Amino acid sequence: MSDYYVYRVDNGLYINVTNRCSCNCVFCVRKSSDGINQGESLWLQKEPSLEEITQDIVTADPTGYYEVVFCGYGEPTECLETVLDVAKFIKKNYCIPIRLNTNGLSDLIYGCSTAKEMEGLIDTISISLNAPTKEEYLSISNPRFGLGSFDAMLQFAQDCKKYIPNVLFTVVDVIDSEKIETCKKLAAQMNIECRIRTKI
Ligand code: SF4
Repeated sequence: MSDYYVYRVDNGLYINVTNRCSCNCVFCVRKSSDGINQGESLWLQKEPSLEEITQDIVTADPTGYYEVVFCGYGEPTECLETVLDVAKFIKKNYCIPIRLNTNGLSDLIYGCSTAKEMEGLIDTISISLNAPTKEEYLSISNPRFGLGSFDAMLQFAQDCKKYIPNVLFTVVDVIDSEKIETCKKLAAQMNIECRIRTKI
């Protein structure tokens, strides 16, 4: 059975670059399902090359889709070079907005500031805020980088505002309403929109 590097959700064309992730979120859809669409497992036998992804993008034909989204069944920035190369290919060949859904820990993965690399390639970045404090973030997202991950994610979000036109935070509704309000306040202080999403 072949891997799904490209899949459709509503009117978005989603790109599945990796199953690796530096977190282990309590709400992660991967704990309960093999994919988003019936019969399309997003577990990869191997990570795709640039050529394999672009071939599938051409076949899917992004024309007519609302946006292309790097999301996948893992953290896309684990393969940041591939993500940026695919984004370059899309920008060169199609006129369609590109969104990156991320846990925001790429600075910790690579040991340097990464937001600038996305300039001109990523139109919207959706960063998982998940919790209002570093301690709660640790217990919900279980990042392999430990307690410092929350502050690194916030710094990354702050940096993204300089290079990416639309920066969003997301919070999954597995925390109580008081904590959700605190997340909203934190996002507002950073002048970043905060979207609450329902657990899949
Ligand atoms: S960051 Fe995303 S892929 Fe990784 S564990 Fe959390 S929800 Fe799952």
